[in-house]
Amino acid sequence: MIRSWVKKRRMHIEALALTGLGVVIWLAAIRHDAFETLAEFVETHESLEVDEVLTAVVVIGLLGLIYALSRLGELHGEIRKRSAAERDVNWIANHDSLTRLPNRAGLNARLDALANAMGPRGRIAYYSIDLDGFKRVNDLLGHQSGDEVLIAVAERLRAIFEPEDIFRLGGDEFVVIEKVRDLAEAAAKARRVTNFLCRSYELSSSMTAELGASVGLALDPDHIDRPKQGLLAADAAMYEAKKRGKGIAVVFEQEMKAALEQRAALEISLRDALKKCVITPHYQPLIDLKTGSLRGFEALARWMDNNGRQVSPIEFIGLAEETGLIVELSDQLLKRACRDAAKWPPHLRLAFNLSPAQFSDRLLGLRILRILAEEGLPPNRLEIEVTETAIVKDMEAAEAVLGDLNAAGIHVALDDFGTGYSSLSQLSRFKFDKIKIDRSFVSSFQDDERQEKIVRAMLGLGQGLGIATTAEGIETESQVRSLQALGCDFGQGYLFGKAMPPENIEAFIAHAAADNSVSDAYLMQDELVETIEKIRLGT
Ligand code: C2E
Ligand code: MG
Ligand code: MG
Repeated sequence: MIRSWVKKRRMHIEALALTGLGVVIWLAAIRHDAFETLAEFVETHESLEVDEVLTAVVVIGLLGLIYALSRLGELHGEIRKRSAAERDVNWIANHDSLTRLPNRAGLNARLDALANAMGPRGRIAYYSIDLDGFKRVNDLLGHQSGDEVLIAVAERLRAIFEPEDIFRLGGDEFVVIEKVRDLAEAAAKARRVTNFLCRSYELSSSMTAELGASVGLALDPDHIDRPKQGLLAADAAMYEAKKRGKGIAVVFEQEMKAALEQRAALEISLRDALKKCVITPHYQPLIDLKTGSLRGFEALARWMDNNGRQVSPIEFIGLAEETGLIVELSDQLLKRACRDAAKWPPHLRLAFNLSPAQFSDRLLGLRILRILAEEGLPPNRLEIEVTETAIVKDMEAAEAVLGDLNAAGIHVALDDFGTGYSSLSQLSRFKFDKIKIDRSFVSSFQDDERQEKIVRAMLGLGQGLGIATTAEGIETESQVRSLQALGCDFGQGYLFGKAMPPENIEAFIAHAAADNSVSDAYLMQDELVETIEKIRLGT
């Protein structure tokens, strides 16, 4: 510490030492009457012109002093500039350039400072803030509008908290860490956040964005033992707020910790499952509703974890997306599915789901083609299923990837149609071979007139555009009849079969071929459905 202080003050120390030396010499000269001796010498040796020499020395000395002072000024200026530049670089590294709030690096520095602080910390509140509906603003109104909303959110947060206590972690995630008196004060502030952020946002495009915020709150030391746990606890409370219906603030409770720990444990077993390749595709039959014949299978990922629990794909695909493991998982599944499908009769197609998170990978199309080539499945036997969310998330990336797939002869189906936030104009930019009507419409269209009109409109849209339609989640015969009457082309659902393991497929295909049709046969004789079910169950 002393060494760094000496380094910083070196110039001052040198100046001080020189001044000190000068004073000592001056005092010594006075003490020994040096000036009188010199004057006497000059007077007695007039011929040597010593006085002229001395005058020249004094003038040179003065000029040297002026030169040294001006260089000293310049040096000071340089040092000031350098430390300003260092401060700038530091600022950029620790701040988010859009909202000008401290970023994740800034947050880590704050957490380290809190962890290393000596003595009592007082009561610290951790707020985890996540916007509700921000993705929709980005998707529907564009990134420029999304940026404007984020700037406005930062401004509203500055009205409640000190600016240096607010952190933007990227996307629509914000964190606040501040000293508070008690839980009541922190809870009141958390409620203010939800109220402030739920007001509408005027955009420069003269549009208005409506969105809300979910807030999780945790207090150190009331809820946690170590400062680093504060954020995790606040996040857990925020997830709970989202679950309870968004737009609210929730205070951390110990039970929430269990959910968080479960998620961390699931991530570890997901990584392990990927290493061991134990997540495999099962196959659900796709039926031609006009002829009743089997047209192919949709690959659906299935995973039994180490404890023998069947983990739902919604759960692990979501986690794989959040953790970035989706690319590896999808590659593994596609390879396996193509290998299986290459053994099926050539008229059967393989449908495969892509996750929205994969569309940011511009080389996705090429990677799929490479897997097809490696496994020997012709591109026209593959149908990639994408959701509206995947497309509107990044229209340009989706256009590039889907363009590659189309060009290679791979079919593209729009999955879960009617459940996303896309507009028809956005979708019209893409060439789909198939629209899949979501299960939520199929399950209710017979009892709900409005749902029936929507299903009719979707089927009409498909017919108008010359795109085939598939109804998902068919569970009853009467649904099949109504859909056939409305002109739906393909069907999929538990009525025809659930997703089955690869080893059951051969028998299923043989059975479908023997009867020449799956749905015709079942329409005539219900027993066939039972038989298929028996094959599926392996009994
Ligand atoms: P999806 O692609 O829309 O798949 C259809 C889902 O509906 C499947 O659920 C299927 O089991 C279920 N289903 C089919 N017929 C019926 C029915 O008659 N009744 C009912 N109640 N459900 C039916 P699953 O397998 O749980 O998958 C859910 C979602 O997870 C899939 O929706 C898909 O979005 C995603 N997913 C599954 N496997 C993969 C995968 O390998 N990769 C990706 N990216 N996503 C996948
Ligand atoms: Mg699908
Ligand atoms: Mg679907």
